[in-house]
Amino acid sequence: MKYELVSGLETHVELSTKTKIFCSCTTAFGGEPNTHCCPVCTGMPGALPVLNRKVVEYAIRAGLATHCAINRVTHMDRKNYCYPDLPKAYQISQFDEPVCEHGYVELDSGKRIGITRIHIEEDAGKLVHEGGFTFVDYNRGGVPLIEIVSEPDISSPEEAKEYLEKLQLIMRYIGVSDCKMQEGSMRADVNISLRPVGSKEFGTRTEIKNMSSPSFIVKAMAYEYERQAEILDAGGEIEQATLRYNENDNTTSKMRGKEDAQDYRYFPEPDIPAVRISEETIEEIRLSLPELPTEKLRRYIAELGVSEANAKLIYPYKNVARYFEEAISLGASARVASNMIVGAIYSTLRTEEEKENFAIRVPAKELSALVAYVDGGKLNASKANNVLLKMLESGEPVSAYVKAEDLAGLSDEELLSLCKGAIAANPKAAEDFKGGKEKAINSLYGFVMKGSRGKADVAKADAILRDLLR
Ligand SMILES: [Zn+2]
Repeated sequence: MKYELVSGLETHVELSTKTKIFCSCTTAFGGEPNTHCCPVCTGMPGALPVLNRKVVEYAIRAGLATHCAINRVTHMDRKNYCYPDLPKAYQISQFDEPVCEHGYVELDSGKRIGITRIHIEEDAGKLVHEGGFTFVDYNRGGVPLIEIVSEPDISSPEEAKEYLEKLQLIMRYIGVSDCKMQEGSMRADVNISLRPVGSKEFGTRTEIKNMSSPSFIVKAMAYEYERQAEILDAGGEIEQATLRYNENDNTTSKMRGKEDAQDYRYFPEPDIPAVRISEETIEEIRLSLPELPTEKLRRYIAELGVSEANAKLIYPYKNVARYFEEAISLGASARVASNMIVGAIYSTLRTEEEKENFAIRVPAKELSALVAYVDGGKLNASKANNVLLKMLESGEPVSAYVKAEDLAGLSDEELLSLCKGAIAANPKAAEDFKGGKEKAINSLYGFVMKGSRGKADVAKADAILRDLLR
């Protein structure tokens, strides 16, 4: 039978506030175990939590950027569970009054993945298993998180990946998290069920916990789809269960079944008063939001005339986008500037991390000056690219490489004589072109460009050659 995949994601995003959610301990990643802690975040008796105002603001930012409604009153709850990574034996989270509800993230296809809710909560500590012992590190305990819960609107592994990548981009753009999946500052639980194509009812779902990369999610979902389809085809029933993904052999295995599913017993947190969020606060935060990724991508293509391929290579990186926009504001044409960024500049930035950081030696002002020569027809693109590569290497300005005499261009007489020379030296190409082979003219251009050491204006040379060959 043909089955349709139904999936929703619960994504945990660690917020990049300086201090933890209920105390003034640092949120810095790493550090000697148990050095970023205090009586509050280790749940010592009598310690009183105080909600970090920034955490609520960041959650509102995340909500507005994903088209959510912001609840005017929100409160914290205790989610009870007993595990060594959580010394209080309850996690402070939110149950029935989260900060944000009813939003969506739009995919490239225009399909919207609904967001049920975004709530705030504290992270737990970390268990480290070593040499037969288990150690606990509470540095991460109390680091603020938002949990973004999607509707079961996702119908393929690729959609899940795109949704997650979009979410990652949005959170980075608005500055609430670095969303580094490899450091655990973004992780997702993926639930999956199958139903016969066309059916409206949901099948029994399984949940894959703690996924740490979009590409693993694709593999895990594909595996889980096959596994469930096989069971259903054989007339079996899916067991509701929590699964773990095994990276080594790309399979899922059971962590616990429904019978030992935990009943968390939420109840309102008595030590933290409810938070009232005013309309003014919401408006203030809305106004402080930057242009969002989807809007930026659309503007680059529709308004700036950047090719879709270039736009998609630039907009994911906040610092690259800022640099590109600065170069344009200084007068560079968007088309040429974008070509140079994804060409010469990206050839020196190999990893995602390097593009993200974007530490290059050529300021936007110098790129803009170089692009101006190309825009003015004084330097051709490939020559400009070479100059830019040298500038990236040395950090020297355009003026160190491009001299006024190089840019004088060719006089019309010089260009005409070069074109005549090109025809005389390539009689076959000239004949072929006359005979209707349009492409034959390319070797004549090549000859002219070479003869002029790249100074010839291509459009002018084209007009002259065509005139001569008529
Ligand atoms: Zn603390």
